[in-house]
Amino acid sequence: MGQLFNSEHEEMRRSVRRFVQQELDPFADAWEEAGAAPLHEVFAKAGQLGLLGINKPPEYGGLGLDFSWVIVVAEELGRAHAGGIPFAIGAHASAIPALANYGTDELRQEFLAPAIQGDAVACIGVSEETAGSDVSGIKTTARKDGGDWVINGSKMWITSAPQGDWISLLANTSAEGGPYHNKSLIVVPMNTPGVSVGAPLRKLGMHCSDTAPVFFDNVRVPLRHLIGEEGKGFAYQMEQFQHERLWGCVRTLSGLDEAIRLTVEYTGTRRAFGKTLLENQVIYHRLADYQSQIECVRSLAYRAVDAMVAGEDVTRLASIAKYMAGKLALELPSGCAQYFGGQGYMWENRITRLLRDLRIVAVGGGANEVMLEVIAKELGWINRRRTERA
Ligand SMILES: Cc1cc2nc3c(=O)[nH]c(=O)nc-3n(C[C@H](O)[C@H](O)[C@H](O)COP(=O)(O)OP(=O)(O)OC[C@H]3O[C@@H](n4cnc5c(N)ncnc54)[C@H](O)[C@@H]3O)c2cc1C
Repeated sequence: MGQLFNSEHEEMRRSVRRFVQQELDPFADAWEEAGAAPLHEVFAKAGQLGLLGINKPPEYGGLGLDFSWVIVVAEELGRAHAGGIPFAIGAHASAIPALANYGTDELRQEFLAPAIQGDAVACIGVSEETAGSDVSGIKTTARKDGGDWVINGSKMWITSAPQGDWISLLANTSAEGGPYHNKSLIVVPMNTPGVSVGAPLRKLGMHCSDTAPVFFDNVRVPLRHLIGEEGKGFAYQMEQFQHERLWGCVRTLSGLDEAIRLTVEYTGTRRAFGKTLLENQVIYHRLADYQSQIECVRSLAYRAVDAMVAGEDVTRLASIAKYMAGKLALELPSGCAQYFGGQGYMWENRITRLLRDLRIVAVGGGANEVMLEVIAKELGWINRRRTERA
């Protein structure tokens, strides 16, 4: 493995850190309270810095850099005081790779370029009320009628849907070919007649990221809104998930670092039984153990990024990295909050926000158990066809 980051990456890191400190953190509490951040405002600023099109082609406004730069952005955004913003930016970034890779020039000019500039908020339209882990089981259909697709169905838990401008929709476009070859990805502008967004969902965490169901009632979009080839939507989406998984993994690791930093800070000053809490070996050993686990997962994630930059299939490594981040996210913030005593039960304490926010990585973009399915499949232990989100 070569040197993943150079001094220019570090410059980018400093620039994203400034963006987080100046444009996000001062507003985090208010946005959390409001249940949403003003995404167009935030995305426009992120777009100006080039953060939304790091590895996208320059002809559509991207910086044309490789995925290692995307990871630097995700890591730094992951330090934000409210996880919802990095989460929303991550969803946006994970909604556009298929369009960037397989869309026609016309479609990319119309939808990718504004998404990269931060003028448009993009959504991922995969999950449905009855099909989350098992993507092959989605029911939304798009059938051809004249020059249009006519779309019917619904999507569930769609990040940024209330403020979304377009959705990368996975729909069944054929009754034939089986569940892995009958789906296509279609760009659907959210203001198309027949698209409606339900009330924002009340979530455990990520409060400044608004999430909602989306309904499609005889929605008509031109056939040219198809991304790539008809029938390849499932495969494109699975490819797109590798991006989402690595982004989710490193964003989460930054949040976990933050949980440890806050815990060391608190236990280093809080005294009980004549010494600081941190002076108890059981506490600093636990924290050192957590930090060690984070570093192992980070190394694995970097290995996956290195492989991705080299053009290799990273399904196995990205799934392992995301799984391990998910496992840590379920355990570590709760373990840290314990050392805050009563303060670790207070809503406004950042450790409890981390506890609420970070656990989404164990479910979103493929649940931990689904990652284990993918890993077993990648290792050749089970039939490749059996796994969803794989
Ligand atoms: C805040 C939030 C934001 C989201 N944003 C988006 C978005 O923008 N776009 C989008 O398309 N989706 C989004 N999702 C949906 C998310 O991807 C799904 O919730 C996730 O994939 C799990 O699907 P499910 O909820 O239907 O759970 P189910 O598929 O019903 O699974 C429930 C649980 O069963 C277990 N399980 C599932 N399969 C297996 C198996 N084979 N073996 C063992 N155990 C298993 C897992 O523990 C899993 O968590 C979001 C979800 C949340 C909560």
